[in-house]
Amino acid sequence: MPSDTGGASSSQVIATATVDRVERISPSFARVWFRGPDLADFGNPGRTFDQRIKVILPPPSGRLPRLSAGSDWWTQWQTLPEAARGVMRTYSIRDIQGEGADTSIVVDFVLHLAEGLAGPASRWASLAAPGDRVLLFGPRRGVIGSGLEFRPADATTVLLAGDETAAPAIARILLDLEPGPGGAAFIEVPTASDALPLPAPPGFEVRWLPRNGSSYGARLIPAVLEQLGVRQHGAVQDAATEFPVWETPSYSSLGEELSGADGRPGLYAWIAGESGVVTTLRRHLVRDLGLARSQVAFMGYWRIGRAGS
Ligand SMILES: Cc1cc2nc3c(=O)[nH]c(=O)nc-3n(C[C@H](O)[C@H](O)[C@H](O)COP(=O)(O)OP(=O)(O)OC[C@H]3O[C@@H](n4cnc5c(N)ncnc54)[C@H](O)[C@@H]3O)c2cc1C
Repeated sequence: MPSDTGGASSSQVIATATVDRVERISPSFARVWFRGPDLADFGNPGRTFDQRIKVILPPPSGRLPRLSAGSDWWTQWQTLPEAARGVMRTYSIRDIQGEGADTSIVVDFVLHLAEGLAGPASRWASLAAPGDRVLLFGPRRGVIGSGLEFRPADATTVLLAGDETAAPAIARILLDLEPGPGGAAFIEVPTASDALPLPAPPGFEVRWLPRNGSSYGARLIPAVLEQLGVRQHGAVQDAATEFPVWETPSYSSLGEELSGADGRPGLYAWIAGESGVVTTLRRHLVRDLGLARSQVAFMGYWRIGRAGS
């Protein structure tokens, strides 16, 4: 993922945010409403798409680090003693509700709590209660671009695919998408009860794919390939990269050039989720369909066995 940590300034907001409400919307998701005066100016309602934000959770002392908005907030955070720093993770804005001092930022947290798959953010969300405080780092209202990857340009067909961590961004994209392109959204989730009602624009099919205990990608990969008419070969394979895969028109974690052949004119593919699954889909879409870099966003939102940031 490109660094979101440099060059912060008047274009970004570091907000102290208080949990206002928590709802367990399905077995695997906790929805959290954050409030606070700093949020009046946070994010871009109607143009949120897959906007990512940073959430900083308090350290065991419960005291949030003091960071001042400015170009050096990342350095400020990194140079704090570890015990005072808390934990930083990346999330998507599921919704921005209200106006001014009544603004709420809504985030859907996946509850991955099984042994070996749990982490501080997921644990925090499973216990979150009104009054809990975090720091949110994201774009200032009116500043669009940084941390936003969904860029279909003039695509006529949009393919959205991802696992539960991508579900909030996919839901938001479907809500914010201008009428025009048709397409399909494939969302792999842990159980059938995690398939939530999701309005989609005309010409869009939304398909929830419950994993029901099978491996990550077991439902998503065949569904996406079938949709594109591509034959699956090989098993799920993670790229031997230190960080999750991140391949967008403006950034390549693999440092590879794509052929730029525009193998399926009019198609734009946005794929996010577990890095090995995303890498497998990338391999098929790039090799077998010859998609150009401008037509794709492949994003490892997390990676098995690795803590996020
Ligand atoms: C741009 C972007 C947007 C994202 N948006 C969202 C969002 O809206 N909602 C959301 O829930 N997540 C989202 N994620 C994913 C989230 O950042 C990671 O899942 C993160 O690792 C969770 O932090 P943690 O502290 O719970 O676990 P970590 O400490 O990061 O990891 C601990 C262990 O948990 C495993 N793990 C991490 N995530 C999962 C998972 N989902 N399922 C199973 N095991 C996991 C890791 O492999 C590791 O072994 C997004 C990520 C990115 C990059």
